[in-house]
Amino acid sequence: MTAFSTLSLPAAFLANLEALGYKEMTEIQAKALPQVLAGRDVVAQAKTGSGKTAAFGIGILQKLNPAFFSVQALVMCPTRELADQVAQELRRLARWKPNVKILTLTGGSPMRPQTASLEHGAHVVVGTPGRIRDHISRRTLDLSRVQTLVLDEADRMTDMGFYDDMAAIACECPAARQTLLFSATYQDDIREASAPFLVDPVEVLAEARH
Ligand code: ADP
Ligand code: MG
Repeated sequence: MTAFSTLSLPAAFLANLEALGYKEMTEIQAKALPQVLAGRDVVAQAKTGSGKTAAFGIGILQKLNPAFFSVQALVMCPTRELADQVAQELRRLARWKPNVKILTLTGGSPMRPQTASLEHGAHVVVGTPGRIRDHISRRTLDLSRVQTLVLDEADRMTDMGFYDDMAAIACECPAARQTLLFSATYQDDIREASAPFLVDPVEVLAEARH
C-alpha cells in the first residue's frame, strides 16, 4: 500500500484526497500516477472499480491552470453514463482548486446549452466521441490547447465502433500533448490500434492479463 503523500502534490490536493476518504492509492494508481505526473504517455489496464478515474484525473488537475480559459484536458468515454460518472469524480477531485470548470458533452442532450457552456469557458471536457465530433465540426469546440487527452475505457470504445472518431478527435489535439489510455481488459489489438495516438507509452497493468 502506498500513500498519496508519496506523490509530489500540493498540500491542498492531498488534504482533499483525505477528505474524500482516499487513504492509500489503489494498485493502478500507485503504478500509473508517478508516470502520469512525470508527463509520460501511459497505457493502463485494470479491472472495473479499481480507481482508474483518479489515476488520470489527478494528473489532469495537477497540470491545469484555471486562470487560462481554454479546454486543457479532454476525456473520451464510451457512454453518457460513464462520462457523467467521470465528470462527477473529477469535480470531487477538483474541490481543492478553485474555479475549475468541468463540462460534459454527450449525445441525447441538446447542442445549444452545451455550446453556450463552451462559450463561457471550460477547462476539462468529458464526452462521448460522437458528440465531441459534432462540436468539432460545428467549430464550437476548440481542442488546440489540450494538454492531456484521455481515452477512458478504450477497449469498449473500440468495441462500440468509435475507433475512427477517436482517431479524428486525437488529430484535433496538439501533437505535443500527453495521452493516457485506460482499459478494463487487456487486448493486443487495442495497443496496436492506439499506437498512433501515443508517443513512447509506459504500460502499466494492475492485474493478470486474463
Ligand atoms: P474504474 O474507472 O477503475 O472502474 P473508478 O475510478 O470509477 O474505477 O473508481 C471506483 C470507486 O473507487 C469510486 O467510487 C472512487 O471514488 C473510489 N476510489 C478511487 N480511488 C480510491 C482510493 N485511492 N481510495 C478509496 N477509494 C477510491
Ligand atoms: Mg472508469
